[in-house]
Amino acid sequence: MTFAVSRPIDFRSDTITTPDGAMRSAMAAAEVGDNVIDTDPTIGELERRTASTLGMEAALWTPSGTMANLIALSLHLRRGDRFLAPRNAHVLTNELGSAAWLAGGMPDPLEHDGGPGRPSPRTVRTAAGTREGPYYTLRTTLLCLENTHNAAGGAITPPDEHAQLVAAARDVGLKVHLDGARLWNAAAALDLPPAALTVGVDSVSACFSKGLGAPVGSVLAGSAEFIEQARRMRQMLGGGVRQGGVLAAACLLALDRVGELATDHANAKTLATGLAELGWDVSEPQTNIVLADVPDVQLALEQLRGIGILALPMAGKVRFVLHRNVSADDVDEALRRIKEGGR
Ligand SMILES: *Cc1c(COP(=O)(O)O)cnc(C)c1O
Repeated sequence: MTFAVSRPIDFRSDTITTPDGAMRSAMAAAEVGDNVIDTDPTIGELERRTASTLGMEAALWTPSGTMANLIALSLHLRRGDRFLAPRNAHVLTNELGSAAWLAGGMPDPLEHDGGPGRPSPRTVRTAAGTREGPYYTLRTTLLCLENTHNAAGGAITPPDEHAQLVAAARDVGLKVHLDGARLWNAAAALDLPPAALTVGVDSVSACFSKGLGAPVGSVLAGSAEFIEQARRMRQMLGGGVRQGGVLAAACLLALDRVGELATDHANAKTLATGLAELGWDVSEPQTNIVLADVPDVQLALEQLRGIGILALPMAGKVRFVLHRNVSADDVDEALRRIKEGGR
């Protein structure tokens, strides 16, 4: 069955969200300066406010989350160092190998034996290997966590488990970077301040350009000394923008909207429940991502497209992402189309 689909419902990613009128106005009105030779006041304000929100000493605006992660890994790793990350982490599978090619790290994926999206502390200890050894001992120096874990379906690592993972990493001499692209979602879902989820890490990255709706922008946070080095690295990578305040103004407004992510989480639950009622094999979403296990992912995506529903493949499943440009009515409409369109 086909529909005269005037408007596709777009579950591909929360990155498709567009700046609304209020955000565009804030961007237009932003106070700006040359952020390379001097400072841009709006970027400065965003960096100070984000550092405090994330419970870190300092923060640095970056054009993308990929750049924020790359800067962090480049500073934490020396060439040939092994780093640990949960299997299917964004730094392992979605950053085109830059962790190895540019940051010089040798990735070692860890199984999610601690829960969805995370290894157990024991696995971290074991994987890190011996700390001291003869000169030919492989160096393992970094644990890279991801909260929420995208490919595990927006899975949350709760603060107590986060603390145990950080403690395990410390015990075996590892630094810890947290890829918190969607840390805001974890914070909103747990009703905790974002800083409650960064305790003990050396660095954390977070995105403004996903569910919070900013068109561009991420942040890397850490100690003041670390961020000073990060600023140099950002410049080397071509991420030093001049009057970036027009972009940072959108990110400042995005920060005010963390609480609104609860709507996306509620919509994700509605979608998952509705799909399950229609016989789909879906797991209960913790945040804004619903993963559906289907026999043939490409076929399912094509059939969905035919009824005006857009989604993407992720970790061998169909991934639906809820975001501010998909309303509760859109979710109902999507379920209606799926029900009437068959599978
Ligand atoms: C999106 C994402 C990033 C990178 O963000 P970009 O701004 O798209 O480069 C990093 N980590 C995770 C977990 C993500 O989902």
